[in-house]
Amino acid sequence: MRTITLNAVRNLGILAHVDAGKTTLTERVLFATGSTYKRGEVHDGTTVTDFDPQERDRGITIFAAAVSCTWDGHRVNLIDTPGHVDFSDEVERSLRVLDGAVAVFDGVAGVEPQSESVWRQADRHGVPRIAFVNKLDRAGADLDRAVESLRTRLHTVPLVVQLQIGVEDEFVGVVDLVRMRALTWDPDLVEGPVPETLLAEAQRRRRLLEETVAELHLKALEEFYAQGTLTEQTLREALRDITRDGTGTVVLCGSAYRNRGVEPLLDAVIAYLPSPVDVPPVRGVGGEERQADPDAPFSALVFKVNATATGRLTYVRVYSGILHKGETVLVGGRAERIGRILRVQADRHTAVDTAVAGDIVAVVGLKSARTGTTLCAPAAPLLLEPPVSADPVVSVS
Ligand code: GDP
Repeated sequence: MRTITLNAVRNLGILAHVDAGKTTLTERVLFATGSTYKRGEVHDGTTVTDFDPQERDRGITIFAAAVSCTWDGHRVNLIDTPGHVDFSDEVERSLRVLDGAVAVFDGVAGVEPQSESVWRQADRHGVPRIAFVNKLDRAGADLDRAVESLRTRLHTVPLVVQLQIGVEDEFVGVVDLVRMRALTWDPDLVEGPVPETLLAEAQRRRRLLEETVAELHLKALEEFYAQGTLTEQTLREALRDITRDGTGTVVLCGSAYRNRGVEPLLDAVIAYLPSPVDVPPVRGVGGEERQADPDAPFSALVFKVNATATGRLTYVRVYSGILHKGETVLVGGRAERIGRILRVQADRHTAVDTAVAGDIVAVVGLKSARTGTTLCAPAAPLLLEPPVSADPVVSVS
């Protein structure tokens, strides 16, 4: 099996107001990455991340689940986050184990009250984000207006890296302003030169992007003044740095429903959002730090426990060291043997022998684990969160 290095991992969350299209987008991401063979639809209840019947019934994502997929040689662990404000504790928990997020907005409504509160939570956790303005195919969708609401309501500096091609029903693609190439979906992705009719507008917007980036990034500023423009490489690096330090927000657009914009979004996730080694080391409650290093002592945090047909699944984010099948670790201070370790994909579980720092897996059959429990090597005890009394195990049929 091919090993994936730590800097090729993205622990990603999709944050959204209910109805912005998170479920549809998640499903399209899993489809685009080849993790699903059949395209599920929200309305027929077959969407792959919604595997809890209660969730299907209510049409909202209640329980966080993590799903692994692969894009361009990178492992993307998609951590589901509840969009409903009533479940904001769950949002907090999942934010803790993310390294980056895609915030999804409705292209008609723009920033809505719940998107504001989730955005603030992500700010508190220091989660780097990119924005995806969805539903551009809808009547009344307006990318510029949605972008303006990001500026005025979220107080971020939007960095729009795409120009949409066609509006509403005729929304067919985007101009990638970083590469100055046109991407259209027909229905699959086709790349080509920027159409003549859009060239002047694309150049104007590229210029605007460069100016905004130069205001936020020293190297870009220097190059902009020295050469009057930015190379693609500097632009890309600056967008990555700006995303990671949170001084601005890269904005992409599309229509999840029409399956437009998903591949460039995944490319942006890889290009701009951090890997586990790009984020600060995790801290124990006593202030001790653990680097995302396979050679460090093992530590992990439980962020979800689900009772499933496969058994009791304990979802963990490994922060340091390596978790081996069959070894004994401390689970909330109690010694327990690690049985099966599963990588959870959209439509299947794959048993693995180890999980390395930065990874997200499910451990089968742990007895003492609760959401918030720390797992650690017996020789190097660590507590990542203060002990919790108890929380219910969620039943998933
Ligand atoms: P969630 O609540 O954020 O998970 O949103 P869903 O993915 O369940 O989407 C809410 C509704 O919006 C569903 O009826 C979707 O079919 C619809 N929807 C999602 N994405 C798009 C889109 O890009 N365009 C249009 N027109 N509808 C969409």
